[in-house]
Amino acid sequence: MGELRRRTPLTRTGQLSPTSTRRRAENRERAAVLASMTENDPWCTVRLPGLCTGRAEDGHEILTRARGGSITDPDNIILVCRACHTYVTAHPVWADEQGWTQPSGDGAGGGIRTT
Ligand SMILES: [Zn+2]
Repeated sequence: MGELRRRTPLTRTGQLSPTSTRRRAENRERAAVLASMTENDPWCTVRLPGLCTGRAEDGHEILTRARGGSITDPDNIILVCRACHTYVTAHPVWADEQGWTQPSGDGAGGGIRTT
């Protein structure tokens, strides 16, 4: 079996620009919101016994951006440590039940899960 080989040279010269200008502005706003929230309360919200490392490291959206949630609205964001964040995103049904995520649309839980 022959391996796949590129037969034509890549033509792109310059840098890739994977983030749109609008998204970059949104990310800056999100960073400011997270900084402000962390200043007010630097601790993880989820606090899973035996997992939580205490200090908040990530912002977690209750309603994900993929479901139309805001990534800059403090009402949609909780601060979490990395360990709790990983657990929440890995256990979507549990997270819905606990209120750490918002079930999709009709609340039936049939939506596509995203992190
Ligand atoms: Zn935690």
